[in-house]
Amino acid sequence: MSQTSQIKADAVAGEAEQAVELIGVNKWYGDFHVLRDINLSVRRGERIVVCGPSGSGKSTMIRCINRLEEHQKGRIIVDGIELTNDLKRIDEVRREVGMVFQHFNLFPHLTILENCTLAPMWVRKMPKKEAEEVAMHFLTKVKIPEQAGKYPGQLSGGQQQRVAIARALCMRPRIMLFDEPTSALDPEMVKEVLDTMVSLANEGMTMLCVTHEMGFARQVADRVIFMDAGQIIEMNEPEPFFSNPQHERTRLFLSQIL
Ligand code: ADP
Ligand code: MG
Repeated sequence: MSQTSQIKADAVAGEAEQAVELIGVNKWYGDFHVLRDINLSVRRGERIVVCGPSGSGKSTMIRCINRLEEHQKGRIIVDGIELTNDLKRIDEVRREVGMVFQHFNLFPHLTILENCTLAPMWVRKMPKKEAEEVAMHFLTKVKIPEQAGKYPGQLSGGQQQRVAIARALCMRPRIMLFDEPTSALDPEMVKEVLDTMVSLANEGMTMLCVTHEMGFARQVADRVIFMDAGQIIEMNEPEPFFSNPQHERTRLFLSQIL
């Protein structure tokens, strides 16, 4: 463990042991039962990869964790905070949880630097100069400090996604959620984004990643989850998950993507 991640680990010791807990979570879109009895505990520093067919509820589950979607039954506890309708607590949770989407969702009319300083200045009330220092630190980390003055449209997809990761990190989240961060990218740009995610994983960040990049899953995941039709069908460490899937539906899915 690096020195900084050790300091981080020490700083959080004694707080909520689980980073994320979903207990009997159910969600409906109207009559459609999209999440069915989801149970999942994510320990601090754990890296979870979520895979499964399109429409199985992966995005919905991830989005419930920072309350972009509401669940109707069961409990979701993030960093010790239970998600209810208490908006103040939801704001607290959103500060702790960074999210990276398939489509980078950068603000097109703001520079890369401004994209990164906006939330720290307005949500964390950070002075501009400090926010810019933090932004440059993370843009350097994702290896594009020289792009700081450009606009998103001037960057490649891979560069934009790395900005999106840096922007999330500028809020100093304790948990990072990724929803298919490489699936909108041209193949040659996938690696640069995955490399960024691997280095984040190696620093001890708690991560929940929806992705079909199974090489990434093998390399960094502590556990891989397979979802189908709103349920967690299978959850295991990568080695047994890939070499000996227990469920027919998992086997079928893996045979289609590997
Ligand atoms: P995945 O990310 O695994 O592809 P999603 O969580 O996006 O799956 O969607 C799960 C199911 O819920 C899909 O059938 C989808 O059409 C449906 N769904 C997603 N969002 C909504 C919504 N806002 N309203 C109604 N149905 C939705
Ligand atoms: Mg999705």
